[in-house]
Parts: sequence; C-alpha cells; structure tokens
Amino acid sequence: MFVNDPILLSKKLITFQSITPEDDGSLEYVRSQLKDSKFACNLFTKNGVKNLFARWVPEKTYDKTIAFNGHIDVVPAGDPKEWKYGAFSGEIKSGRIFGRGAVDMKSAVAAFMCAASEAVLEYDLNCSIVIMLTSDEEGRAEFGTKAILDWVKKNKEKINDCIVGEPTSSYKLGDTIKIGRRGSLNGTVYCKGKQGHVAYPKKAINPVEKIIEFLSELKSLQLDNGTKFFEPSSINISSVETDNPSSNVIPGECKAKFNVRYNDNYKASDLKKLIKDISKKFNNSSKSKIKLEYRESGESFITKPGHLSTIMSESIKKITKLTPKLSTGGGTSDARFLQKFYPVIEFGLVGDTMHQVNENTKTKDIVMLKNIYKEFIKNYDQQRLSQ
Ligand SMILES: [Zn+2]
Repeated sequence: MFVNDPILLSKKLITFQSITPEDDGSLEYVRSQLKDSKFACNLFTKNGVKNLFARWVPEKTYDKTIAFNGHIDVVPAGDPKEWKYGAFSGEIKSGRIFGRGAVDMKSAVAAFMCAASEAVLEYDLNCSIVIMLTSDEEGRAEFGTKAILDWVKKNKEKINDCIVGEPTSSYKLGDTIKIGRRGSLNGTVYCKGKQGHVAYPKKAINPVEKIIEFLSELKSLQLDNGTKFFEPSSINISSVETDNPSSNVIPGECKAKFNVRYNDNYKASDLKKLIKDISKKFNNSSKSKIKLEYRESGESFITKPGHLSTIMSESIKKITKLTPKLSTGGGTSDARFLQKFYPVIEFGLVGDTMHQVNENTKTKDIVMLKNIYKEFIKNYDQQRLSQ
C-alpha cells in the first residue's frame, strides 16, 4: 500500500543509508510505492548507479507532461557522535524530522510522490506526470540525471516542463524559487620555478610569489556588475599549495585552485580566454611559467519568468500566503542538465541545515510542500486546457 503521508514517507526514505552514489535499496522501495499509484516504473543502472524513471498517464489521451526530478543519495553523515539522533533514524522530535536527507532532499521526494499520488486520484487530470530520481547527484553526477536524460531520449519519452525539488527556500518555506543558476568553473594553476635557498633568492625562481602575483591579478578582474536576473560574476581563490616542509627553502613548484561563479554574461570558454590572456602576459615577462587546467561544473542558465514560475508562485501563495522571490543564487544542481532540454525551475524546503550534522526540517513544512506541489499539478493541468 502506498504510504500516502509525506512525513512517514520521508522518515522511511531517511532510514536508507543511501550515501552517494549508493541507493541502499531506496529506489526499489520508491518503485514499489509508485507502482501502487499506477506509475509505470523503469529502474535502470548506469555504471553501477541506480536511476528511476516513472510515468503516470491519464486514461484519456494527453499532450503534456510535467516531470519532477530529485535525488535519493545524500552526502556522508560525518561524525555519528555529533548527531543528536541517528543520522539515518528519521527521528521526529518537537515538530521536526532529523536525519541525513531530511532537507536535501528526501522529504521533497516524499512530498512530490504524495502530491502526485493524491492529484491523480482527486483531479480529473489531462496531463501526464513523470517522476525521475537518481542516486548520483551529490557526487560526480556523471551517471545520474545525465543518464536518465539519455534514457529518455533513447526511449522517446516526452516531457514538457520540469520541477526540481532541491531546497531553495531561504528562511521560510515558499520565500524563494530558483529560475536559474550561475555557472561554475574550477581552475587549477601550476607554476614551476627553480628551487633554492631562501638566503639566496636571486639564485632561485620563486613559484609561490609568482603564483600570488598571478592570483592577485586574477582577483582584481572586475568581471561585471550583475545582470537582470544574476548577481555579479566572481572569482574566488580556494587554495595555494606547495609540498615544501622547510622554511629555508624556496620550493620548485606551487599549485593554486580557484573557482569562478559566473552569470549569463559569460560562457566557460570566454572566461578561459580571459584568464589565458593574463597568463600569456605573465608568462612573457616571467621566467617561471603558469600553466592552467580546468574542470567545468556547468554553464549558467536561466528559465526566464514565464508559465512555470507563475504557476509555482501562485501555488505557493495559495498555500503559504508568501510571494516567492525568483532567484539564481546558490550552487549548482541537476537542473543544469535538465535545462538543456526543458524549461526547468527549482522549488523545495528551507535549506539552512543541508549537509550539516543534525540536518532537520519542520514536519509541517513537508506537508505544506506536498500541498504546494499538488496545487501546482492542478494549476499546471488547467493551464494546459485554457491554452
Ligand atoms: Zn540536493
């Protein structure tokens, strides 16, 4: 029987130790639940990672599909001694549910599962509902939502719009919807110098000082002042490393790492060119050479305010009385993969304890979130009819 109580379902999902990229049997459990609600389920594995694609269809024909995307994997629990209740207990105390994934994002998964199963029973829907879940979002994210999208393409599954249930609310459930995300580019700088004695600096080439000069030039770049929907792009240095244990040696090599969070003024390739120009100038005038390597986490994207954000805002307002802010802040999520194919927005719980010990959320927020998703499904369906 379908556990049609989003709090109990969250509790059950939290008890699976699905530390990324393991699902610990949770997706099999979700499949059995969704099958009870008449979803056709496909559970498949890509490089050892489990993914689930489930679709409910109305008896009549349909021409529109709303998809909910989420992840069942969680980050590691950290020191078990620091948890008030077990990290995988799903303990409910004083109106809050505790456990890894309570916020990010098992409770949202439970909320949209329950919202969908209630909606298909209560409303005479004309649209189809898809639920897609992965257990590879918190890690490399190589074989998760990306693999689901490959599967969708191969099986010619149609989807029109997508909601991701990441915790987007800032202080109160319903205060923020994400309509895009900044891009993220990770850079590593290598600088080779010449090792020597600190007392004879002229006989050495100091790569630490060179790298610091390079980084300060990088840091002084004024990328932009922000755009209509985005904060200014920024460069942040995250480490400067040498393997030098002695204070009287100038090391032969130095390495540094930085990250660029960028808005829709840039593509990763523009930034790489900009940084390369600095390194060229630098390499022309210096004996020590700068070498750069990159890892791209995802380009910036925006789903411009439109039908999805309007329907979600109205649904939120009806349940919480709040008017949500449309934001593009925060880190990356699987929406970066989905946006290549569909309009996508993200909405979920208050994210204040995500990835922390004693991660928890208000049980009443889980119920409200379920009601918001359910209201959204109803309004999305009706909007189709009026088009
Ligand atoms: Zn998440």
